[in-house]
Amino acid sequence: MADPEEFKARVDQIVDEHAQDLIAASHSIHANPELGYDEHHAHDVLTKLLAAAGMSVTRGAYGLATAFEATSGTSGPRIAIMCEYDALAGIGHACGHNIIGAAGAGAAIAAGALANELGGTVVALGTPAEEGGGGKVLMAEKGALEHIDAAMMVHPAGVELSRISAIAIQQLEVTYHGKAAHAAAAPHLGRNALDAAVLGYMNVAALRQHILPTERIHGIFTDAGDAANVVPAHAGATWYVRSPTVEGLKALKARVVSCLEAGTEAAGCTMDIRWIQPAFANMVDNDALIELYRDNLARSGRTLLEPASSQEVVGSTDMGNVSHVVASMHPMIAIAPPEVAIHTEAFVRYACSDQGDRAVIDGAKAMAATVVDLWTRPEQLEKVKAGFREARDSGVATGSAVIGV
Ligand SMILES: [Zn+2]
Ligand SMILES: [Zn+2]
Repeated sequence: MADPEEFKARVDQIVDEHAQDLIAASHSIHANPELGYDEHHAHDVLTKLLAAAGMSVTRGAYGLATAFEATSGTSGPRIAIMCEYDALAGIGHACGHNIIGAAGAGAAIAAGALANELGGTVVALGTPAEEGGGGKVLMAEKGALEHIDAAMMVHPAGVELSRISAIAIQQLEVTYHGKAAHAAAAPHLGRNALDAAVLGYMNVAALRQHILPTERIHGIFTDAGDAANVVPAHAGATWYVRSPTVEGLKALKARVVSCLEAGTEAAGCTMDIRWIQPAFANMVDNDALIELYRDNLARSGRTLLEPASSQEVVGSTDMGNVSHVVASMHPMIAIAPPEVAIHTEAFVRYACSDQGDRAVIDGAKAMAATVVDLWTRPEQLEKVKAGFREARDSGVATGSAVIGV
């Protein structure tokens, strides 16, 4: 087999040939921000691009109207490239998912052009609703990750990092039920649902002193009754519970519920809790995959850094769930100065800028070259797969995209 470097030169050339279309797609998605599961424009733009390049495209894949799957190749190692494209309510593409979608499409088109020649398969997965909704989890439940050997994506940021520090998260909605009564004439007849919520809140505040410094619990009241002279018969709260691992999250969730139950019990009320699915898992990064990407990214003159506390990006992503099922990476590609954080107005502008456009091209090339490595260097593919097996056998990766409630 020829030198992998020759094939990498060819994927570079194919990305360059498609550069105008990829950047136009990025700009078009940026100009038409769509919320999770409503990304019809982005879905159309990207699937047209992939189909025009000769990939076999399934629109509305895995039962989700705005998901897609585009495949090239029929045999050999199957490598998935994730395309995200949802925006944030009110602010637009402040997470730069237009760049993720365009870079992913570019990588899939370039690698896909060599798939038959190199005996590999590339699968571009269009994964809706990363910002809440967890498209990747729903797609994984329906089989999108079956027979996949490795999965990758790039995410824009203010820094060039090998990984996101993604911790597990689940959101909780609580509805309290009490008994209304005249607050002055007959308070003894009432049972105060707001008291139940407040006591639960205070219990969680006390709990916070005895959790890991890396864990997070934050909540708000969403309903606090209707009138001050009526004992509130209903109240509501929303909580985010976060822990570095899936196991940690399960344990922390139970402790939070105990706190809320105690408050409810004290107030003589009842509560209904609803854990909003899907929960997002922590990210299990595949170091062997990141090393391949690091070398390939360096070809564009970019230096991939390891996170330090001063410049890590902490958050949560449904790519975490993918990483528990298959060898995965989620590097951050720099499009802005370090002081510009994602989810800000300033980042919206960088997501459609010269720097953002360069990230589309450089990210596509680095991912496509990494796919070439996985197809042409069996020892590297084995290293990646061995890394995942080790994570799964040691319990670091759970083997499931779905976190049980
Ligand atoms: Zn985001
Ligand atoms: Zn994002």
